Amino acid sequence: MSLRFLNRIRKTTGFRLTLWYSAIFILSSLALFGIAYVLLSSSLKQKDQETIQAKLKDYQAQYRTGGIIAIKNELNFEKYAGKPNIFFIRVAGPKNQTLFLSIPDQWGNFDLKSLENGDSSVKESWTYLRAVDRKKGVEIASAPLPDGCSLQIGKNTESREELLESFRKAFIAVMIPVILLGVFGGQFLAFRALRPIRQLIHTVRAITATGKIDSRVPTRQTGDELDELVLLFNQMLGQIEVLINGMKDTLDNVAHDLRTPMTRLRGMAEMALQGKQTSENCREALADCLEESERVLKMLNTLMDISEAETGALKLKLEPVNISELLENVVELYRYVAEDKQLVVHTAYPRELYVTADRHRLLQALANLLDNALKYSPSGGRVEVEADAYPQEVVINIKDSGPGIPPEEIPKIWERLYRGDQSRSQRGLGLGLSLVKAIVAAHRGHVEVASQPGVGSCFSVHLPKQP
Ligand code: ADP
Repeated sequence: MSLRFLNRIRKTTGFRLTLWYSAIFILSSLALFGIAYVLLSSSLKQKDQETIQAKLKDYQAQYRTGGIIAIKNELNFEKYAGKPNIFFIRVAGPKNQTLFLSIPDQWGNFDLKSLENGDSSVKESWTYLRAVDRKKGVEIASAPLPDGCSLQIGKNTESREELLESFRKAFIAVMIPVILLGVFGGQFLAFRALRPIRQLIHTVRAITATGKIDSRVPTRQTGDELDELVLLFNQMLGQIEVLINGMKDTLDNVAHDLRTPMTRLRGMAEMALQGKQTSENCREALADCLEESERVLKMLNTLMDISEAETGALKLKLEPVNISELLENVVELYRYVAEDKQLVVHTAYPRELYVTADRHRLLQALANLLDNALKYSPSGGRVEVEADAYPQEVVINIKDSGPGIPPEEIPKIWERLYRGDQSRSQRGLGLGLSLVKAIVAAHRGHVEVASQPGVGSCFSVHLPKQP
C-alpha cells in the first residue's frame, strides 16, 4: 500500500467516522469496566472491613473479661470446635511492644517491626501489613483496650486480590473482541451510512462522463436527512432535464420551421431584384417581406413563450381573476371575426367566477381556443363559451360546430408546430394549442378535448381555484 493511498484513505469521511465510532465504543467499554472494577473492589474491601470490625469488637469484649488469657482460651475453644483462626490477632502493650500475636500458619512471614515502630497513640486506625514475600497482605484494624494496651485484628486480602486479579484478566480477554467489534462495527456503520453519498457521487460521475442527465440516485425511502438530500437532488436533476430538453426541442423546432419562411423571404427578395424594378414592385416586395418577417417573429415569440411555460421559467403574475369578465373580453375581441363569418357565439357562465391566475396569460390561452373554434367552424355555425365552478376548480368549455378532429390526430394536436391535414388551408402556425396547454399546465391545470368528426369539438380547460 503506497503512502499516497493511505493519505487518501485517512482523509475520507468513512475513515473518520470509523475512527470516531471505534474510539467512542472502546472508551465507553473501558469506562464501564473501570467503574465495575472500582465498585467491586470497594464493596469487597467494605465487606472485609465489616468482618474485621465485628471480630475486633468480639475480642475487645473477651479482653475486658479476662485479658490475653481470655483471648487465648477463645482461640483454643474455636480450634477444638473445628474453626481454626483465620485472623491476625495482636495485643500490643502501652509502648507498642507485642504482648500476644496469632497469625494463621499458611499466611507466611510478616515483618512486625513496622507495627511496633508505629505510633501507638493512634487509637483507632487502619493499617496494611505486607507479607515478607510481598505477595500477600493483611488489612489491620486497631482499637484501644481499657488498660492502655491496644488490640489489632487483621484479615488476609489474598482472596480479595485473587478475585480482582481474575476480574482484570477477564477484562483483558473481553477487551480484545470489544476492540475488534468497535473497529469492524464502526466500519460497517460508516459504510452503510455513507451509501447514499457514494450513490450520489456515482450518479454525478456518470452524468459528467456521459453528459446524460437522465440518471437518478436510488432512494431508500427511509425519510432521513440523506434520503431527503437524494430526493431533492433527483428533483433538481429532473428540473434540469426538463429545461435542457425544452431548450433542445425549441431549438430543433426553430431550426426546422424557420427554413420555410426564410426561403420564402429570400425568394421574394430575389424575384423583386430579378423582375422589373419599378417603385410599385419594390414596395409590394418589401410589404411581402415585412409580412413574412412578422410571421417569423410571431413564431419565435410563441415558441419562446411555450418553452418558458413548459420549463417553469415563465413568471406568472398571479392575482384573483374573474373568469366571466375575462371570457367577455375574449368574446368581445373576436366579435367582428364571428360576425364576419356569421357565427353565433353563445355564452353561459355565472357573473362571479374567481380563480387565482395570470390574467394576461389566461386571456392569451382562451383567445387561442376561441380563435380556433371560430376559424374551424363553417359560416353560419355556432360556438358556445361556457364556464362553471366546482369545489376545487373552474371548468371552461369552448364548443364549436367545426369539422371535428379525427381520433388518430387528437394526441398530435398538442405538439409544437403540428397542423392537421384538413387545416392547411386555414391561417395558423400550429403553435396555438401547444401554448394553451403550456399556460394551463403552468397554472397547475389541464386541458382536454372531446371531438366528433363532422359534428364539432369541445375544448375544456380545468383550472384549480388556487394554483
Ligand atoms: P393552428 O390552428 O395554427 O393550426 P393549433 O395548435 O391551434 O394550430 O392547432 C393544431 C391543430 O389542431 C390544427 O391544425 C387543427 O388541425 C387542430 N384543431 C385545433 N382546434 C381545432 C378545432 N376547434 N376544430 C378542429 N380542429 C382543430
